Amino acid sequence: MAAGPELDKGYEPSRVEPRWAKEWEERGYFHADDESDKPPYCIILPPPNVTGSLHLGHALTATLEDALIRWKRMSGFNALWMPGIDHAGIATQMVVERELQKSERKSRHDLGREEFLRRVWSWKEAQGDRIAVQHRALGASLDWDRLRFTMDEQSSRAVREAFVRLYEDGLLYRALRLINWCVKDGTALSDLEVDHDEGVKSELYKFAYPLADGSGEIVVATTRVETMLGDTAVAVHPDDERYRAMIGKKVRHPILGREFPIIADAELVDPKFGTGAVKVTPGHSFEDFDTGKRHSLPLINILNPDGTLNANAGPFQGQDRIKVRPALKARLAELGLERGTEAHTMALGKCQRCGNIVEPLLSKQWFVKTKPLAAKVIEHVDEIHFVPETWRAEFLRWMNNIHDWTVSRQLWWGHQIPAWYCEYGHVTVARERPIDCDECHSGNLRQDPDVLDTWFSSGLWPFSTFGWPDDTPALRTFYPNSVMETGFDILFFWVARMAMLGLHFMGKVPFGVVFLHAMVRDEKGEKMSKTRGNVIDPLDITARHGADALRFTLASMAGQGRDIKLGVGRIEGYRAFANKIWNAARFVLMNAEGYDPRAQPASVYDRWILSRFQRCADETRKALDEFRISDAANGIYKFVWNELCDWAIELAKPALYGEKSAAERAGAQASLLTALEGSLRLLHPFMPFVTEEVWQRLPNREGPSIMIAPFPGPRPELIDERAEREMDVIARAIDGARSVRGEVALPPNQRVPLVLFAKDSALFRRHERAFKHLANASEVSLSSFDAPRPKGAAVHVEPEVEVHLPLANLIDFASEKARVEKEIARVDAELEGIRRRLDNQGFVERAPKDVVEEHRARAEELQGKREKLARHLARVTSVEDGMEDKNPQQPQGTQPAAQTGSSELADRARETFEAAREAVAPMAEKMAAAMTEAGEVLAQKAAEAGGVMATKAAEVKAAVARRIAAARRPKKAAAKKPARKAVARKAAPKKALKKAAKKGGRKVAKARKPAKRKGKR
Ligand SMILES: [Zn+2]
Ligand SMILES: [Zn+2]
Repeated sequence: MAAGPELDKGYEPSRVEPRWAKEWEERGYFHADDESDKPPYCIILPPPNVTGSLHLGHALTATLEDALIRWKRMSGFNALWMPGIDHAGIATQMVVERELQKSERKSRHDLGREEFLRRVWSWKEAQGDRIAVQHRALGASLDWDRLRFTMDEQSSRAVREAFVRLYEDGLLYRALRLINWCVKDGTALSDLEVDHDEGVKSELYKFAYPLADGSGEIVVATTRVETMLGDTAVAVHPDDERYRAMIGKKVRHPILGREFPIIADAELVDPKFGTGAVKVTPGHSFEDFDTGKRHSLPLINILNPDGTLNANAGPFQGQDRIKVRPALKARLAELGLERGTEAHTMALGKCQRCGNIVEPLLSKQWFVKTKPLAAKVIEHVDEIHFVPETWRAEFLRWMNNIHDWTVSRQLWWGHQIPAWYCEYGHVTVARERPIDCDECHSGNLRQDPDVLDTWFSSGLWPFSTFGWPDDTPALRTFYPNSVMETGFDILFFWVARMAMLGLHFMGKVPFGVVFLHAMVRDEKGEKMSKTRGNVIDPLDITARHGADALRFTLASMAGQGRDIKLGVGRIEGYRAFANKIWNAARFVLMNAEGYDPRAQPASVYDRWILSRFQRCADETRKALDEFRISDAANGIYKFVWNELCDWAIELAKPALYGEKSAAERAGAQASLLTALEGSLRLLHPFMPFVTEEVWQRLPNREGPSIMIAPFPGPRPELIDERAEREMDVIARAIDGARSVRGEVALPPNQRVPLVLFAKDSALFRRHERAFKHLANASEVSLSSFDAPRPKGAAVHVEPEVEVHLPLANLIDFASEKARVEKEIARVDAELEGIRRRLDNQGFVERAPKDVVEEHRARAEELQGKREKLARHLARVTSVEDGMEDKNPQQPQGTQPAAQTGSSELADRARETFEAAREAVAPMAEKMAAAMTEAGEVLAQKAAEAGGVMATKAAEVKAAVARRIAAARRPKKAAAKKPARKAVARKAAPKKALKKAAKKGGRKVAKARKPAKRKGKR
């Protein structure tokens, strides 16, 4: 590993990242011990599908989990990030089937089960590592030695064990039930695997069933006319007068000739809907199934597994269940039974995987009895902390309304169900293939051909990965896991199942924290998809901008509720951040000659940056503790970019360049290196690569790698309130000078003199160089606060100081004024156009949401610009007119009397006041210090004394005011002091706001409607 003080000119992630990813893994840093004196910390990676290719969802998961794991590892934990890969039942089977079709023009049935499974395994051996390799490129510090596959022998054994135990406990059964069936994939689906398209436009088709006794007809309405081939009743509401006489009569099926009854059912029938008479198809509708049970109606299945109609459909046998509709309607029309149609919207259940319409189908399947399992979870739910907290209610709601879980799938790839049947239909459930039937001892056994839902094996993952059912050291150390971090979209699929199975088999909830992250969408909030062409490929981004930039982007945006709107621009911005760190380090190292690690901070700048660093470290730890990952990332970013790079390094330059004492140089070197080295450790969990690469060059690093260096802990001795207060004043004044320069459009390299009118001149004199250097001042002169102001100057006002930029000879006022006026007119015109459109209700309603949003944003932007220009124009005008200090931020009528041609008397009055004020000021400061240090009593006394002082000061002030007023009637010169104080007071809350903004508030995700529900169509 190349290490040394020299850094290349630019930072090139592609040269650094793969090298460190490999090095860390080879050095064994990712490895956690089964047994350790350190406290355990464990996160299980949601096992990505073996068919998967790394997408932004994976990248977000990896970013958040790796940040937590690296932070904990650096904080002295035995941190395990457990890798795994899911066999992904149906997805994998489909991939291999497609390849088989393409290369050999064969279906899996042509090969037979055994040969097909052999092909899937060899596909897995060849392709199955892709997703693991891709995670390595992100710098994911997974304990790869432990990599597990959900169909490896250990996991398969756990699955069989769990199945048998649930069966023995009466929590697993086989039954003939109506289930969701995908005709395309030929398998049962669980409720969760069905997506419900709401608001699908369809038609309500009406037709008549003739009464069997020839006394008339009854008209029913349906959206799925083909199901009439399986009808076994017509239901009406018992209170519906229209049909009361028909209840108990029979209708004759016009196509099949069967006869069935008209029944009364208050639960199924809404008399106001359709015709008030409902056809009942217990074999093909969940609601009708329940109705059928209530009335002991026969169940007729009209479908083959592939979606074609079976023999029960009579003349329509063999046709597809949806394509048959026109023919069926034509037949009904021919029979004179059509009674019109109505437009109708409904919910349509579709297969989550293939998009085909899901059919309720009568089928014998295996089910997990979930109610008792869920009851246990509900009982223990307080042991799980949800982040964000809002998910807890949804989790509970789902647990409270849970349905039995269909776990069998009619696939070949997966865990084959450990149940065997003899020729008499007896069932033997066993861990290994039994010798004979449990009941009749027949040796003629056939294993259930179905496999288990993929989520069955992943539901066991928090403990099956550690050797369960054996009692292993790893299981004792890492169960329960510390945090389950995953996307909110699999809360019910996975988190809920882990909670149920974990509690049942291990007696404890599987994790203390469920941390659910948002979905990554494109800049406009649209789902990324190949068809939309808006997919951002994380591997492409990593290759171009580095994994660090991608990771930091995702971390910094993770707090945005349920959607993360990601654009490439933001990623480029964080690549620039990596560069900034690189360049800052380069500069510090170039000026580190003679660095003495024992050197003490020598200037207020040194004490300030160390204090700021420590605060950032404390806030980062707190944010991470509370899973506010984005707050942590953004806090470090602000500190490193703004305070360390933009301020501390600039402020230290005179000392580093030897323009000050040797002690100050040593102090500056030491404090910058301390802050830089510490910042790298803070940043490491988010940007592992650039931090390691830079850290290796620092003379003050300790240990072989930043990855195993300690995370910055509390060091209260570095906090220096006084230095922070002082620098706050100076930074605001310098920022003010800079913004005035910007507003009057001074060229960046144009040096101008600065005149400071300060209350505490000594303070500002100490920072003269900072003003020169950071506000690009040619010279800095200091005046007492009440000295006359220069003419023709632009001003920035802070409570402690006024910053004047005399511009008289520097800009051409006339042409500048003309330019600004023209610009304002242009902004006004555009603004008016936009406002007119926004005022137009039609536009706001019809235009796409994002267009309206863009308009609003642009209007706001223009408004801000206009205000700036107006301020600038006011400055230019006042300066040009030679008027006195007409600072727009200062209320009218507050000009000091001194500036309007002070009389001798006024001067003396001011001097008297100033003397009085200055006499009071140091004492007040001392008292403030005493108040913070001393106890209750002293504080009380000091306050009393302060009160006396304040009264005295007020008396002096009043006396001065009276004298001035007397001398200079009618002008109200005495108004000066209080008015100025008002400005100071007004400025203070702004500062407080800024501080509050710095702290930042995390956006709390707003709860939305539950994701999915079973529905009738
Ligand atoms: Zn499907
Ligand atoms: Zn038997």
